[in-house]
Amino acid sequence: MSTTNPYYSRTDTTKLHVSDNEWKKILPASVYHIAREKGTEYAFSGKYWKTDVKGMYYCAVCGNPLFRSTAKFASSCGWPSFFETIRPNSVIYLQDDSYGMDRVEVQCGRCESHLGHIFDDGPPPTHKRFCMNSAVLDFEPDQK
Ligand code: FE
Repeated sequence: MSTTNPYYSRTDTTKLHVSDNEWKKILPASVYHIAREKGTEYAFSGKYWKTDVKGMYYCAVCGNPLFRSTAKFASSCGWPSFFETIRPNSVIYLQDDSYGMDRVEVQCGRCESHLGHIFDDGPPPTHKRFCMNSAVLDFEPDQK
């Protein structure tokens, strides 16, 4: 990710309190729209919805480790889907009643950026489906 983002760290777990005004100066517009305005990328348009490479997925906004590729599963929904996070507090959950729907929003546990939503139709063992936006994920393949 960008080296001009002073908040980006894959090891620092300190909670961030950064204003949207500040994020707007730092993040690419497409990332800002999803992360800070709860946007959604078009299905089948993101860079990770179909990938199956071993590695780690980090928050593209702040670098917080979110998912291992081993928790990713092939989903027909058009967005990268995972059945569990790397740590219980990697993300936070918020009730989302927007658009007349009863959904649970998933935000990054470190920077509170919008990542996507969680549903109960995932595979075992958790039966959860973290339905994420590729634009707010940063993938690092494992070293060979
Ligand atoms: Fe984050």
